[in-house]
Amino acid sequence: MAATRAQVHAVETGPSPIERYRSLLGKEAWSQFAGAMRAFAVKLRGRVVWNVNSAGRGGGVAELLAALIPYDRSVGVDERWLVIDGTPEFFQVTKKIHMLLHGVSPDGSELSPAERAEYEDTLGRNTAALVELMKPGDVAVLHDPQTAGLVPALTSHGVKVIWRSHVGVDQPNDMVRGAWRFLTPYLTKASAFVFSRKAYVWDGPDGSRVHIIAPCIDAFSTKNQDMDGHTVAEILRASGILSGSDGEATFLRNDGTAGRVRRRADLTAPLPIDARIVVQVSRWDRLKDPSGVTRGFAQHVAPHVDSWLVLAGPTVTSVDDDPEQSEILREVRHVRDELDSRVRDRILIAQLPMDDTEENAAIVNALQRRADVVVQKSLAEGFGLTVAEAMWKGRPVVASRVGGIEDQVEHERSGILIDDPQDLKGFGSAVVGLLQDPKAAEALGTEARQLIIRKFLAPRHLMEQAELITSLV
Ligand code: UDP
Repeated sequence: MAATRAQVHAVETGPSPIERYRSLLGKEAWSQFAGAMRAFAVKLRGRVVWNVNSAGRGGGVAELLAALIPYDRSVGVDERWLVIDGTPEFFQVTKKIHMLLHGVSPDGSELSPAERAEYEDTLGRNTAALVELMKPGDVAVLHDPQTAGLVPALTSHGVKVIWRSHVGVDQPNDMVRGAWRFLTPYLTKASAFVFSRKAYVWDGPDGSRVHIIAPCIDAFSTKNQDMDGHTVAEILRASGILSGSDGEATFLRNDGTAGRVRRRADLTAPLPIDARIVVQVSRWDRLKDPSGVTRGFAQHVAPHVDSWLVLAGPTVTSVDDDPEQSEILREVRHVRDELDSRVRDRILIAQLPMDDTEENAAIVNALQRRADVVVQKSLAEGFGLTVAEAMWKGRPVVASRVGGIEDQVEHERSGILIDDPQDLKGFGSAVVGLLQDPKAAEALGTEARQLIIRKFLAPRHLMEQAELITSLV
């Protein structure tokens, strides 16, 4: 089919000064970071670094791009962010690829020729729009399977293409290999491949082009900026999560202006002001297992400790490239509705407003800080930014030992890992243990924050990516 042009859209990001990191890094690390960033800007003069993905908000990739691009821009690198245009049918196909890459087939089948045709048709239309924007010599970082099919045309156009996968599994099965086979023909010409961890590297790409860059969080974004207890409570009240009257629920926007939480979350009933809470923040996705969290809490936490569960995620219609959210939300609500009322009333399912992503981030920030225990009971996880976010906030975490979570949490030192993600009893007893032993919980949280400072903050990532891009130009 002839490629008519798609409506790719640009996500605007202002600059974030790298000086924010000066005191957090200490003298030596700061001077290494600042020097690397200055050198990067000089090398990239005259070229644009384009990031291309499939959603401007919702999920870890959007979070990462929104955090990192502003720092490169602030040192003078012309880095930009484009979001491809896809039909619901295209996103059904790419969601299926995503699930297959995690070893699960949503409909029991492999990818069909019709699904390949849908995939290629949409990306063909996007290519037509992208080649008008990109110049030969520019660099494009294409994120995830949604963009793999863009590699051949952009490479032929003279663009240096880095394809980055944010997903993967430790033990590939036939479904995973089938998805690799589907994607590999598009990828062979890429200049470099980036994976989040070594275990995720496919059989296909030759070693010299493979790079490992672990994701990171930005300590100063609206999602992670420091927030005192009073502000936390005000933000949770203003969003309707905590009972009580509204006060001044303010936060600091990335551009330095004051923001205010005005929109309310869509939820059943608010938490009592002094509730002890267990929190999971995630998109409504089967692999995040919100139904399993609900059952684990009902069966193995609620009978032992007086606490609440909060499952928070974005408004279901807000994440463009994820068509399954409504269905998963329905499922978890059903699980909750079936419970005895005494337990049910202690489970709060909240859809957080997404009209203003910084307002959403401020609510997530407050919720994570207010949590007595943060859980991430994923069945599979590329990296799991929510884990790093909670650890940075000094929260004790109980998470499945899957994917990138294992790189972040050292079991019983900076959090608790559950070996089998389906083990509801083990999950529940770990949560109960922390709720009953606040001192141990605090010690885990303190160590967790230090670990994030050492390994998972933006400067490390910015330097690694700068080095890779520099090596290509
Ligand atoms: N997130 C958010 N608002 C929500 C739910 C999630 O901002 O209502 C964010 C969350 O804080 C994290 C990202 O979305 O920064 C999810 O990234 P993660 O790596 O945990 O999972 P992914 O969605 O990429 O699978």
